[in-house]
Order: sequence, then structure tokens, then C-alpha cells
Amino acid sequence: MRKKAETRNVPITSLENSVLELYGLDQNAVESLSSTNLGDLVIINVTLKPDYPPCPRCGHEHPNVCNYVDKTITHSILHNCRCQINYHARRYKCPVCNRTWYEFNPFRRSCPDPQSDNASPRAAA
Ligand SMILES: [Zn+2]
Repeated sequence: MRKKAETRNVPITSLENSVLELYGLDQNAVESLSSTNLGDLVIINVTLKPDYPPCPRCGHEHPNVCNYVDKTITHSILHNCRCQINYHARRYKCPVCNRTWYEFNPFRRSCPDPQSDNASPRAAA
């Protein structure tokens, strides 16, 4: 079995596709997506592609990936089975000011960050 870190181009299952649709995610924004069927529970593992947003504090444009924090989201997408999303949230770290922050979390409405770095309200655009 070959294992590559590239984007996979195999067809995704309808359930995985449902997750993407539910959260308005483009397949191109997803680095990896897989599902495990445990019978009465389906576990979906998802990692988004890094987009390296500029540092929210100093504006440095080349943050490093700090680490990944698993967030578990339970959602009943299907009526006849339970579905759990394991979202591997990526955290960036600014090499200039050492600020750390989470990537944009499309699952946020289902799974708010309890320890969000963005404590201050965001100004209207
Ligand atoms: Zn910074």
C-alpha cells in the first residue's frame, strides 16, 4: 500500500460528500477525508488544507504550522446512524511574535473553540 501526502483523487463516499455539503466545504479545501463505519456509528476524519493566513497580530505572512488539535463533532447527518466528525484543527504559530491561532474552522458552529485565541470581537468588514 502506497501512502502519499498528496490530495487524493478517489471518489469520496456519499456520506463524506454530505459532510462537505453540510459545512459548505469545497473538496479542494480538504487535505484528507476518510470515514470509518463502526456499525451504528460512522467516524469521519477530516483535515483541511493549510492556507497559511497572515498573523492576526503582526501581519507576518509566513506562519508555521504549530500543531494539530483534534476536535470531535457529533452530528446526525443521517437519520439511521450516528455520525462523529474528528476534525484535526491546525494551529499556526507566528515566527515573529510567537502568536498562535487556529485555522478557520468551518465546523465552528457545531464545535466552538473553548480556548479560542480570538477573544476580542472581530470588527465588521
Ligand atoms: Zn506575528
